[in-house]
Amino acid sequence: MKALPEAQRDVLAAVPPLPVVEVPLREALGLVLAADVVAAHDVPPFANSAMDGYAVQARDTEKAPLTLQVLEDVPAGYAPRTEVEPGTAVKIMTGAPLPAGADAVVKVEDTVPGEGEVRILGPVAAGTAVRPAGGDVAAGTVVFTAGERLGPAHLGVLASLGVAEPRVRMRPRAAVFSTGDEVQPPETDHLRPGWIRDSNRPLLCGLLAELGAEVLDYGIVPDDAALLRDTLAKAGDEADAVFTSGGVSMGEYDLVKAVLAELGDIEFWQVAMQPAKPFAFGLLGRTPFFGLPGNPVSVMVAFEQFARPALLRMMGALRLFRPRVRGRLAAAVETDPAKTVFLRVRAFPSEYGWTAELSGGQSSNVLSGLAGANALAVVPAGVGGVPAGAEVELEMFRWPESRTAEEAFGG
Ligand code: AMP
Ligand code: MG
Repeated sequence: MKALPEAQRDVLAAVPPLPVVEVPLREALGLVLAADVVAAHDVPPFANSAMDGYAVQARDTEKAPLTLQVLEDVPAGYAPRTEVEPGTAVKIMTGAPLPAGADAVVKVEDTVPGEGEVRILGPVAAGTAVRPAGGDVAAGTVVFTAGERLGPAHLGVLASLGVAEPRVRMRPRAAVFSTGDEVQPPETDHLRPGWIRDSNRPLLCGLLAELGAEVLDYGIVPDDAALLRDTLAKAGDEADAVFTSGGVSMGEYDLVKAVLAELGDIEFWQVAMQPAKPFAFGLLGRTPFFGLPGNPVSVMVAFEQFARPALLRMMGALRLFRPRVRGRLAAAVETDPAKTVFLRVRAFPSEYGWTAELSGGQSSNVLSGLAGANALAVVPAGVGGVPAGAEVELEMFRWPESRTAEEAFGG
């Protein structure tokens, strides 16, 4: 049996990086920068007003209240044509460039407008309500470094810098199929004895879509060597990574093993973890292949521990693993000391910090509990269990909305 960290390291070492491309911002969410981004100019590019009001010389306003002559009116998007001198002001809107000579803005609420003039009601210090050029990003600054994953705010910053097509690694194309003669599409109305519906494919497609992969759905492939061979060969050609579920446990080994041996360099592993002990991994040509177990909970746990970090590595990310927090496990559990055990839990902030409750039955076929879980509680190998109330690491995999409007507004 392979220890979990060793298996994870082997997977990460084997996956190739995706090609570097330039993509428009609207297609870049969730992708990873392949090069540092250096600001070519200041943001904002010019000093501008933070308020609607009057641009003035701060020194003038020491004698306020006083009346200043208004030279012009500068809306956002226009350049001033005049220069502010003692005794004068320029009417200015938020975001409009500060006129030459001015060093402060008096907000409109502190003024009384008149005909060609304005009454300034109180003094302001130099710099008041002025946003300096480069106050957000100074020209020449390294704004983001290669390996950073783009969130919505990153896209906004890139736009402000004029980086309309950032250099990123390609969005991975992920091929998915389920295997097994018993596995039927979800729309099957009548399940014959022995049949089950395919829950792994929607689960896996969802996990991949959440990660930002482009999913290629190859459906269900029965336990048939020729069909398996064709589908694997096609998937290996068309996708950047291939994901299957089922057919890698001891009983079924031979069929899939024989087919994979023809097509690529795939190993069958027994990983010292629970769930998801059986796992096949390798390369179909140059395409990574993840042979996930058949049981749905094992699919998710194996995806989380092997496939997700590997895809992020292929995408060029530096940070590959989910955040972990420490929290108390509400119930006592006994675990196999030979394995790293992942319990599906609902973690929530309590007066003692994070608390985690088991989310449903913990057998690897019980998928319903996973839907209510937001974390995996990690019981390390060598431990053999956790008493009620003891601290464990909680690997957070979902941060869903958790407060109703009533809760958010305090009743
Ligand atoms: P296997 O690894 O193929 O022996 O499958 C292990 C268990 O997972 C068996 O009980 C299968 O029926 C079940 N299983 C396999 N594939 C799926 C699937 N796509 N959806 C739900 N259960 C599955
Ligand atoms: Mg099977």
